[in-house]
Amino acid sequence: MQRIFEGNRNWVEKKREDDPEFFERSAKGQAPKYLFIGCSDSRVPASQISGTAPGEMFVHRNIANMVVHTDANLLSVLQYAVEVLKVKHIMVVGHYGCGGVAAAMSDKQFGLIDNWLTNIKDVIRLHEDEFNFITDEEQRFRRLVELNVIEQVINLSKTSIIQNALKEEEPPQLYGLVYDIREGILRDLNVQTTNVMKRYEHIYGMQ
Ligand SMILES: [Zn+2]
Repeated sequence: MQRIFEGNRNWVEKKREDDPEFFERSAKGQAPKYLFIGCSDSRVPASQISGTAPGEMFVHRNIANMVVHTDANLLSVLQYAVEVLKVKHIMVVGHYGCGGVAAAMSDKQFGLIDNWLTNIKDVIRLHEDEFNFITDEEQRFRRLVELNVIEQVINLSKTSIIQNALKEEEPPQLYGLVYDIREGILRDLNVQTTNVMKRYEHIYGMQ
């Protein structure tokens, strides 16, 4: 742990040198424009990969960047971000090589986490025709990472929080991104939730 405290002191020193007002300014409050919903994987640090500074991005991370409708933690973060902080952009960020997605693809048991991974298995079930058609194992893995992001963005749009926000003049925009650990590049999957929500309005639509 010594390394952590030393690292912290060095960071404070460097920050004070580069921007003497930084801590005073931070203490006054936050007004982030972005909400990042990403994987807990240590290789996908939200601020660093997006080049955003402290104060710019509100962050929620869990295993395999899931949006689960019974997850009180995610829903609280989402509500606060949308209704209080009024973020403008919400991104679900998956990443290739995701251990959670790999585990969901296997038929092994991992313990309690299996119940969480079932949400990813549901994504496989929803896209089984496309999924089974991909013969290359690596390609199938990469595609599931993408499909999982797409489904989580759709899950986001189904929440009452986003449904209500869509009635506002300037609702937050939703995005599905994939981070390539090998290259460091973030790609936009151009997820369009409007068509899906229109098609299933008789199920998910709310007045
Ligand atoms: Zn992951």
